[in-house]
Amino acid sequence: MKRTLVALSLAVFTAMAACDTKPKPTVPPAPRSEEDSITALFKKPGDSVPPTARWCTEMFPSQAADSFTIEKMQAGVLTAYKWKWQLGQPKRITVRFNDGIPAIQDRIKTIAAKWEPFVGAKFVYVPSSQEADIKISFQQRGASWSRIGTDSKGHSPSMNFGWLEEETVDSLFEQVVLHEFGHAIGLVHEHQLPNGNPIKWNVDSVYAYYLNYPNYWTVQCVKDNIFFRYQRNQLNAGMFDPTSIMMYEIPARFTTNGYSTPINVRLSPEDKRLVSDVYRR
Ligand SMILES: [Zn+2]
Repeated sequence: MKRTLVALSLAVFTAMAACDTKPKPTVPPAPRSEEDSITALFKKPGDSVPPTARWCTEMFPSQAADSFTIEKMQAGVLTAYKWKWQLGQPKRITVRFNDGIPAIQDRIKTIAAKWEPFVGAKFVYVPSSQEADIKISFQQRGASWSRIGTDSKGHSPSMNFGWLEEETVDSLFEQVVLHEFGHAIGLVHEHQLPNGNPIKWNVDSVYAYYLNYPNYWTVQCVKDNIFFRYQRNQLNAGMFDPTSIMMYEIPARFTTNGYSTPINVRLSPEDKRLVSDVYRR
Protein backbone atom coordinates (compact mmCIF):
# COMPACT_ATOMS: atom_id res chain seq x y z
CA MET A 1 0.00 0.00 0.00
CA LYS A 2 1.63 2.44 0.55
CA ARG A 3 1.75 4.59 -1.69
CA THR A 4 4.57 5.81 -2.23
CA LEU A 5 5.45 8.34 -0.54
CA VAL A 6 6.91 10.96 -1.57
CA ALA A 7 9.32 9.60 -3.22
CA LEU A 8 7.82 7.46 -5.17
CA SER A 9 5.67 9.42 -6.39
CA LEU A 10 7.31 10.36 -8.81
CA ALA A 11 6.28 11.62 -11.41
CA VAL A 12 3.70 10.23 -12.34
CA PHE A 13 2.07 11.64 -14.84
CA THR A 14 3.65 13.71 -16.87
CA ALA A 15 2.95 16.96 -16.64
CA MET A 16 0.01 18.90 -15.74
CA ALA A 17 -0.74 19.41 -19.35
CA ALA A 18 -1.25 15.73 -19.73
CA CYS A 19 -4.24 15.99 -17.53
CA ASP A 20 -5.94 18.87 -19.14
CA THR A 21 -9.37 17.67 -20.01
CA LYS A 22 -10.92 18.00 -23.39
CA PRO A 23 -13.27 20.91 -24.03
CA LYS A 24 -16.64 20.07 -22.59
CA PRO A 25 -19.68 20.43 -24.79
CA THR A 26 -21.86 23.39 -24.01
CA VAL A 27 -24.82 21.13 -23.60
CA PRO A 28 -23.69 17.94 -21.85
CA PRO A 29 -25.28 14.70 -22.87
CA ALA A 30 -27.86 13.23 -20.57
CA PRO A 31 -26.43 11.32 -17.61
CA ARG A 32 -26.10 7.61 -18.06
CA SER A 33 -28.37 5.38 -16.12
CA GLU A 34 -25.46 3.66 -14.44
CA GLU A 35 -24.16 6.76 -12.77
CA ASP A 36 -21.21 6.12 -10.50
CA SER A 37 -21.90 6.26 -6.85
CA ILE A 38 -19.36 8.94 -6.12
CA THR A 39 -20.76 11.15 -8.83
CA ALA A 40 -24.28 10.56 -7.63
CA LEU A 41 -23.29 11.45 -4.09
CA PHE A 42 -22.37 14.92 -5.19
CA LYS A 43 -25.54 15.51 -7.11
CA LYS A 44 -27.93 17.71 -5.24
CA PRO A 45 -31.69 17.80 -5.63
CA GLY A 46 -32.65 20.36 -8.20
CA ASP A 47 -29.24 20.50 -9.84
CA SER A 48 -29.68 21.82 -13.35
CA VAL A 49 -26.06 21.24 -14.20
CA PRO A 50 -24.85 17.65 -14.33
CA PRO A 51 -22.23 16.84 -11.71
CA THR A 52 -18.70 17.08 -12.90
CA ALA A 53 -16.03 14.48 -12.48
CA ARG A 54 -14.92 13.71 -8.96
CA TRP A 55 -11.63 12.05 -9.70
CA CYS A 56 -8.35 13.32 -8.45
CA THR A 57 -5.52 13.58 -10.92
CA GLU A 58 -1.97 13.64 -9.73
CA MET A 59 0.14 16.53 -10.85
CA PHE A 60 3.63 15.57 -11.72
CA PRO A 61 6.65 17.57 -11.31
CA SER A 62 6.74 20.01 -14.14
CA GLN A 63 8.25 18.72 -17.26
CA ALA A 64 7.59 21.79 -19.24
CA ALA A 65 11.07 23.15 -18.97
CA ASP A 66 13.13 20.18 -19.94
CA SER A 67 10.91 17.70 -21.70
CA PHE A 68 10.90 15.32 -18.83
CA THR A 69 9.83 11.83 -19.59
CA ILE A 70 8.47 9.43 -17.06
CA GLU A 71 11.54 7.30 -17.53
CA LYS A 72 13.82 10.16 -16.67
CA MET A 73 11.75 11.08 -13.70
CA GLN A 74 11.86 7.58 -12.37
CA ALA A 75 15.51 7.76 -11.84
CA GLY A 76 15.75 9.99 -8.90
CA VAL A 77 12.48 10.54 -7.50
CA LEU A 78 12.50 8.40 -4.57
CA THR A 79 13.86 10.89 -2.22
CA ALA A 80 13.57 13.94 -4.36
CA TYR A 81 10.06 14.94 -3.35
CA LYS A 82 10.03 13.99 0.28
CA TRP A 83 9.92 16.91 2.70
CA LYS A 84 13.06 17.33 4.73
CA TRP A 85 13.66 19.37 7.84
CA GLN A 86 16.55 21.54 8.85
CA LEU A 87 18.33 20.45 11.96
CA GLY A 88 17.35 22.56 14.91
CA GLN A 89 14.35 24.05 13.12
CA PRO A 90 10.68 23.31 13.85
CA LYS A 91 9.39 20.55 11.61
CA ARG A 92 6.73 22.31 9.62
CA ILE A 93 5.23 22.60 6.18
CA THR A 94 3.76 26.02 5.49
CA VAL A 95 0.37 26.27 3.82
CA ARG A 96 -1.62 29.19 2.50
CA PHE A 97 -4.99 29.61 0.89
CA ASN A 98 -4.89 31.62 -2.32
CA ASP A 99 -8.65 32.03 -2.14
CA GLY A 100 -11.73 30.41 -0.62
CA ILE A 101 -13.97 31.08 2.33
CA PRO A 102 -13.02 30.69 6.01
CA ALA A 103 -15.66 28.08 6.80
CA ILE A 104 -14.24 25.67 4.23
CA GLN A 105 -10.62 26.58 4.97
CA ASP A 106 -11.15 25.79 8.66
CA ARG A 107 -12.56 22.36 7.88
CA ILE A 108 -9.57 21.63 5.68
CA LYS A 109 -7.15 22.61 8.46
CA THR A 110 -8.83 20.30 10.95
CA ILE A 111 -8.82 17.33 8.59
CA ALA A 112 -5.31 17.82 7.20
CA ALA A 113 -3.96 17.81 10.76
CA LYS A 114 -4.75 14.09 10.92
CA TRP A 115 -1.60 13.47 8.87
CA GLU A 116 0.65 15.44 11.24
CA PRO A 117 1.43 12.72 13.83
CA PHE A 118 2.64 10.42 11.06
CA VAL A 119 4.66 12.99 9.14
CA GLY A 120 6.09 14.27 12.41
CA ALA A 121 5.60 17.87 11.33
CA LYS A 122 2.95 20.56 11.56
CA PHE A 123 1.06 22.25 8.77
CA VAL A 124 1.48 25.92 9.59
CA TYR A 125 -0.94 28.28 7.86
CA VAL A 126 0.30 31.66 6.75
CA PRO A 127 -1.53 34.65 5.22
CA SER A 128 -2.23 34.53 1.51
CA SER A 129 0.26 37.32 0.93
CA GLN A 130 3.16 35.21 2.23
CA GLU A 131 5.26 32.52 0.63
CA ALA A 132 4.24 28.97 1.51
CA ASP A 133 5.20 25.42 0.65
CA ILE A 134 1.64 24.38 -0.23
CA LYS A 135 -0.71 26.83 -1.96
CA ILE A 136 -4.39 25.92 -1.98
CA SER A 137 -7.01 27.20 -4.40
CA PHE A 138 -10.66 26.44 -5.12
CA GLN A 139 -10.80 28.09 -8.52
CA GLN A 140 -10.74 25.09 -10.86
CA ARG A 141 -14.25 23.81 -10.45
CA GLY A 142 -14.84 20.09 -10.77
CA ALA A 143 -11.19 19.13 -10.38
CA SER A 144 -9.25 18.19 -7.27
CA TRP A 145 -5.54 17.56 -7.45
CA SER A 146 -2.23 18.22 -5.77
CA ARG A 147 1.40 18.40 -6.66
CA ILE A 148 3.43 15.63 -5.09
CA GLY A 149 5.57 16.39 -2.06
CA THR A 150 8.15 19.13 -2.43
CA ASP A 151 7.16 19.68 -6.05
CA SER A 152 4.47 21.83 -4.41
CA LYS A 153 7.08 24.48 -3.74
CA GLY A 154 7.43 25.55 -7.32
CA HIS A 155 3.77 25.91 -8.20
CA SER A 156 0.87 28.11 -7.20
CA PRO A 157 -1.65 26.82 -6.68
CA SER A 158 -0.09 23.49 -5.78
CA MET A 159 -3.39 22.00 -4.64
CA ASN A 160 -6.94 22.54 -5.83
CA PHE A 161 -10.27 21.53 -4.36
CA GLY A 162 -12.92 21.68 -7.05
CA TRP A 163 -16.02 20.45 -5.33
CA LEU A 164 -15.96 21.35 -1.67
CA GLU A 165 -18.97 23.35 -0.53
CA GLU A 166 -20.14 24.36 2.92
CA GLU A 167 -22.85 21.74 2.68
CA THR A 168 -20.52 18.93 1.57
CA VAL A 169 -20.99 16.04 3.98
CA ASP A 170 -18.15 15.26 6.36
CA SER A 171 -17.19 11.91 4.85
CA LEU A 172 -16.68 13.28 1.35
CA PHE A 173 -14.96 16.37 2.68
CA GLU A 174 -12.58 14.20 4.68
CA GLN A 175 -11.93 11.85 1.80
CA VAL A 176 -10.71 14.49 -0.63
CA VAL A 177 -8.75 16.55 1.92
CA LEU A 178 -6.86 13.55 3.33
CA HIS A 179 -6.25 12.31 -0.21
CA GLU A 180 -4.87 15.58 -1.59
CA PHE A 181 -2.72 16.17 1.47
CA GLY A 182 -1.52 12.60 0.99
CA HIS A 183 -0.18 13.69 -2.40
CA ALA A 184 1.27 16.81 -0.82
CA ILE A 185 3.37 14.73 1.55
CA GLY A 186 4.54 12.55 -1.32
CA LEU A 187 2.05 9.77 -1.85
CA VAL A 188 0.89 8.53 -5.22
CA HIS A 189 -2.29 6.68 -6.15
CA GLU A 190 -2.61 3.23 -4.69
CA HIS A 191 -3.96 1.67 -7.87
CA GLN A 192 -0.66 2.48 -9.59
CA LEU A 193 1.52 0.55 -7.20
CA PRO A 194 3.21 -2.59 -8.49
CA ASN A 195 3.41 -4.67 -5.35
CA GLY A 196 0.60 -7.18 -5.04
CA ASN A 197 -1.68 -5.08 -7.22
CA PRO A 198 -4.65 -7.32 -8.17
CA ILE A 199 -6.28 -4.95 -10.65
CA LYS A 200 -6.74 -6.21 -14.18
CA TRP A 201 -8.18 -3.23 -16.05
CA ASN A 202 -10.99 -3.57 -18.52
CA VAL A 203 -9.34 -1.09 -20.83
CA ASP A 204 -12.36 -0.45 -23.04
CA SER A 205 -14.60 0.17 -20.07
CA VAL A 206 -12.14 2.52 -18.43
CA TYR A 207 -11.69 4.57 -21.59
CA ALA A 208 -15.43 4.65 -22.18
CA TYR A 209 -15.92 6.18 -18.78
CA TYR A 210 -13.07 8.65 -18.54
CA LEU A 211 -13.10 9.95 -22.10
CA ASN A 212 -16.77 10.82 -21.98
CA TYR A 213 -19.35 12.45 -19.79
CA PRO A 214 -18.83 13.55 -17.07
CA ASN A 215 -15.04 13.41 -17.21
CA TYR A 216 -13.80 14.22 -20.72
CA TRP A 217 -10.21 13.21 -19.93
CA THR A 218 -7.67 12.84 -22.70
CA VAL A 219 -6.28 9.42 -23.65
CA GLN A 220 -2.92 10.44 -22.21
CA CYS A 221 -4.52 11.46 -18.96
CA VAL A 222 -6.15 8.04 -18.64
CA LYS A 223 -2.86 6.31 -19.38
CA ASP A 224 -0.99 8.43 -16.84
CA ASN A 225 -3.58 8.37 -14.07
CA ILE A 226 -5.06 4.92 -14.42
CA PHE A 227 -2.93 2.43 -16.32
CA PHE A 228 0.58 3.62 -15.52
CA ARG A 229 2.25 1.64 -12.76
CA TYR A 230 5.37 2.50 -10.90
CA GLN A 231 8.22 0.10 -10.78
CA ARG A 232 9.24 -1.46 -7.53
CA ASN A 233 12.53 0.31 -7.40
CA GLN A 234 10.85 3.68 -7.72
CA LEU A 235 8.78 3.39 -4.64
CA ASN A 236 9.11 3.50 -1.01
CA ALA A 237 6.05 1.40 -0.74
CA GLY A 238 4.75 -1.74 0.81
CA MET A 239 2.08 -4.05 -0.48
CA PHE A 240 -1.02 -2.85 -2.26
CA ASP A 241 -3.59 -1.63 0.27
CA PRO A 242 -7.18 -1.46 -1.00
CA THR A 243 -8.22 0.46 2.11
CA SER A 244 -5.77 3.31 1.54
CA ILE A 245 -6.99 6.88 1.34
CA MET A 246 -4.96 7.04 -1.88
CA MET A 247 -7.09 4.37 -3.54
CA TYR A 248 -9.63 5.32 -6.20
CA GLU A 249 -13.13 4.01 -6.06
CA ILE A 250 -13.08 1.25 -8.68
CA PRO A 251 -16.36 -0.20 -9.93
CA ALA A 252 -16.26 -3.85 -10.99
CA ARG A 253 -17.06 -2.97 -14.59
CA PHE A 254 -13.63 -1.31 -14.80
CA THR A 255 -11.89 -4.64 -14.32
CA THR A 256 -11.86 -7.98 -16.08
CA ASN A 257 -11.43 -10.00 -12.91
CA GLY A 258 -14.29 -8.59 -10.89
CA TYR A 259 -12.02 -6.52 -8.69
CA SER A 260 -13.61 -3.45 -7.14
CA THR A 261 -13.05 -1.06 -4.25
CA PRO A 262 -15.39 1.35 -2.47
CA ILE A 263 -14.67 4.96 -1.60
CA ASN A 264 -12.21 5.12 1.29
CA VAL A 265 -12.77 8.13 3.50
CA ARG A 266 -10.15 7.75 6.21
CA LEU A 267 -6.49 6.93 6.68
CA SER A 268 -5.88 3.21 6.75
CA PRO A 269 -3.53 1.59 9.28
CA GLU A 270 -1.06 1.03 6.47
CA ASP A 271 -1.29 4.68 5.39
CA LYS A 272 -0.25 5.67 8.88
CA ARG A 273 2.47 3.06 9.14
CA LEU A 274 4.02 3.86 5.81
CA VAL A 275 4.14 7.60 6.28
CA SER A 276 5.50 7.21 9.80
CA ASP A 277 8.15 4.86 8.52
CA VAL A 278 9.24 7.06 5.64
CA TYR A 279 9.35 10.27 7.62
CA ARG A 280 11.23 8.69 10.47
CA ARG A 281 14.23 8.06 8.25
ZN1 LIG B 1 -5.16 11.69 -6.20
